[in-house]
Amino acid sequence: MSRLDKRVAFGQVLGSRKDEECTPDIVMVGGFGNTGIIFTEEGVVVVDTAPMSIARVVEVIRARTDKPIHTIIYTHGQGDHAWAAAPLLEDAVKRGHPRPRVIAQEALLARFARYKELARQNRFINNIQGGRTYVRPQPGDKFMPDNVVYPDITYRDAMQFRLGGLTFELYHYMGETDDGTWVWIPERKTAITGDLNVGCPNIGNPFKVQRYEVEWAEALEQVAEKNPDYLIPGHGVVLRGQGIQEACLVTAKYLRYLHNEVVKLLNEGCWIEEILERVSIPDELAKHPYLPPIYGCPTYIIHGIHRRYAGWFNGNPGELFPAKRRDIAAEVVKLSNADSILKRAKELQKQGNVQLALHLADFVVYGSADAVARKEAFQLKAALLDEKADKEYNTIAKNIFLVGAQKAEDEAQEQ
Ligand SMILES: [Zn+2]
Repeated sequence: MSRLDKRVAFGQVLGSRKDEECTPDIVMVGGFGNTGIIFTEEGVVVVDTAPMSIARVVEVIRARTDKPIHTIIYTHGQGDHAWAAAPLLEDAVKRGHPRPRVIAQEALLARFARYKELARQNRFINNIQGGRTYVRPQPGDKFMPDNVVYPDITYRDAMQFRLGGLTFELYHYMGETDDGTWVWIPERKTAITGDLNVGCPNIGNPFKVQRYEVEWAEALEQVAEKNPDYLIPGHGVVLRGQGIQEACLVTAKYLRYLHNEVVKLLNEGCWIEEILERVSIPDELAKHPYLPPIYGCPTYIIHGIHRRYAGWFNGNPGELFPAKRRDIAAEVVKLSNADSILKRAKELQKQGNVQLALHLADFVVYGSADAVARKEAFQLKAALLDEKADKEYNTIAKNIFLVGAQKAEDEAQEQ
């Protein structure tokens, strides 16, 4: 199997492929990102739009009603939730309906502005995170599509409206993003929560901006307090009944636990390496069926919380202004020699210590002036990363290893 075949498309693991009915007037269209559709006497409300399933959203709506799409709500500004509303507006034009209004929390605007300003960077990191390719950004690379629909109405903390006998309560939350909205429809005891419910939260994503663990926990507790009968998450299947309380509260507990552990260790004067070493998660949380580290994982979360409260200094003054990696590596290669370093790396590989073997291979990759030795080091690095990818459970890590293995193999060719 090629590396590209091994990569994990997030749609496969996070997405729901099926459409589900909650109540007769509320359905979820499953996709890489889910869409909630609420049918009322006065029109349709759509919560979230995802590029790959938006055509089906239109089909599902038009199979049931000729009424206008009245309101579109974005749960946050990420591409799998807020970038695909254009076909809904086109449907309105085609039918001579009024243009649907679009509602989002106000911070979504700054998010969209950042996506534009850092379009090439975002595309670059998403290509690595998605296991596609390691290609440096090219001039003119795009991230957000041109036909993205901006909100007409934004709110700060909460807002509510009524339509066709139903109440739509919108609450701001911070979690994976700072512009989150979760929607509560009291008459149907249904919550639509976007990326609030994604299994193990992807806090401290290796590539992405700050995320918010305590606020995330608070929002989950607020959802649980409503005691919903149905919960439409941003990804995955509809949660029902008692399972909702369990999913929300165990995730909140997990986040609070990790937050408190990191804070406690920071207050003991620990630096990041020691914090990563010392935090251990009780089995009831670590092994909870709702929290497998498929998307987020404890290491990322610890980094994310640490970054929120501390700077980047690792505690070793010798590394405050470090020498270049290649200069350090060159000294190590001079002292030993490339052959013996690679020999030891392969021994470690055989013993199953792939990570340590990688560090040794890197001394030769970065520090050897000999093209033959470097080629061998790159080949070994590719093999080690492939091995790590095969064993890795976390999808983001697996994709990083696969892209890295391909890059190392390409570099081996170039020596
Ligand atoms: Zn999402």
